[in-house]
Amino acid sequence: MNLTISKANPNSITFNRRLALKHTEVKYLPKLNCACCGRDLITAPEAAEFYKKITKPLKLMMEKGFFKPWQSSTRVWNVLQSFSLNFPDMNLDTILDVKENQKALKIALVDDLNELIANGKREFKNERYFKYEITDEYADLLRRSRTHMKSASAVMRRLLPLKETFEGHKKAVFEQLEIYARKYPRKRLQEIINLDEVYRFHQQKDWLQRAQTREKLDFHFDNILLLVKKQNPQAVEFFEDLKLEAVDLLELEHDSAARIPKMKKMYEKALKEHGCEKLIPKVNKELEQVPISFITVDSFLVFAKNHKFSDGQIIMSLISPYTSSVEHIIPISEGGKDSIENIIVLCRECNRNRSSVPYTEFIQYHPMMSYHTQRQINQIGDYILNGTFDADKFLPIKVSKTLHNYTHGKISPDYSDYCKKQIRRSERKIKKRDTVMKEVKQAKVDALRQKADLEREIKGLDKKMNDISHLTQELNKDNDSDNNFINQMKKQIKK
Ligand SMILES: [Zn+2]
Repeated sequence: MNLTISKANPNSITFNRRLALKHTEVKYLPKLNCACCGRDLITAPEAAEFYKKITKPLKLMMEKGFFKPWQSSTRVWNVLQSFSLNFPDMNLDTILDVKENQKALKIALVDDLNELIANGKREFKNERYFKYEITDEYADLLRRSRTHMKSASAVMRRLLPLKETFEGHKKAVFEQLEIYARKYPRKRLQEIINLDEVYRFHQQKDWLQRAQTREKLDFHFDNILLLVKKQNPQAVEFFEDLKLEAVDLLELEHDSAARIPKMKKMYEKALKEHGCEKLIPKVNKELEQVPISFITVDSFLVFAKNHKFSDGQIIMSLISPYTSSVEHIIPISEGGKDSIENIIVLCRECNRNRSSVPYTEFIQYHPMMSYHTQRQINQIGDYILNGTFDADKFLPIKVSKTLHNYTHGKISPDYSDYCKKQIRRSERKIKKRDTVMKEVKQAKVDALRQKADLEREIKGLDKKMNDISHLTQELNKDNDSDNNFINQMKKQIKK
């Protein structure tokens, strides 16, 4: 990550290519599962790749290397991304003319810089550095590239690979949008949800569902009141107030899994205080049937229309809960380290649900967390072992220990399997090395034997050479005597 300050003008901040923060890299591992709910995670690069396909400025920003959101998700990036998704038909200048937007970008920049300071990456202590200025090139780029949202059918086609990921009301929204894309192939998503016929249809269904939910709520809470009335008539007033508190809890508690357990706890305490312990099982039964979610495909589409959602916002609200995010096991506020031993990967939704609830409490509402965390640690371990993830090979053990200590053993991943795998791997390596060593040794022996053979051969050849030279000498001698003989003969002939 580097928001560099250009040297020519220290007051201006240049958006530049970013470098990855090593400790957050774990969230870019492919095919991880959320350590809490276990769903398949979409990595930031996958999500960015998708956004790139539907909005033009984002595509350009990424292609030109101004931002690599998969390497770092800073607030500035998030703000600019939401600008281009929220105002698909404006250019950046127009967007930034709006005071609110200027403020948002400025706040994001200050936050980013503060984080840099907190991480000791850079020293930005002077207020004046917090003024922002977008480089000319960047502004020009955005000026030239207005966003062109695609037609609904094109967008839905792009979304198709993610279809299996969606769950609950998001799945229903996706399916509904698919139907509309087929019905109005040339219109954009925003245009479709603004159509009178579409809006009215969902609004009416939404009203009806709200009324039914309300009725169901009242039915179960009234049953509880009746039970209390029989047992202790004086407590009725108190339980009427408690009902209002419970309804508040249902609407305000953002962790949906915590809603019923928290209500149960509340009622258990109240029943005990009013001498109605006997009712606890019956009341719990009623509470378990209380509807906990108010979001439906209809309420989503009505909300999106009323809040003037752009196509990008519709899509982002579908995708973003499934993208991977790093979660500090021990929160930074409690002195947790911002390092990889203190990190697990959660989907954004679980991350948001946890916020800063201690794990010892959080796991009560998410009993599968232990299992899913184990699975994620195994996955990360495998990535380390096969060399995909370049990290400390003791990492899974360290993370397991952090979890064990922090949750007092409530989440205590077993890393013996990882250790065994690592030992097996090391043994395999040693074995491989041994066989190579053996082969080398054998080759050495072979070479020596060959050398000896060759030496023997050379000796033989030398002997042969000797014999030959001996023979030559003999022959020469013979030759000499022959010459002498010839000379003597010649002399005699002359005489
Ligand atoms: Zn999750």
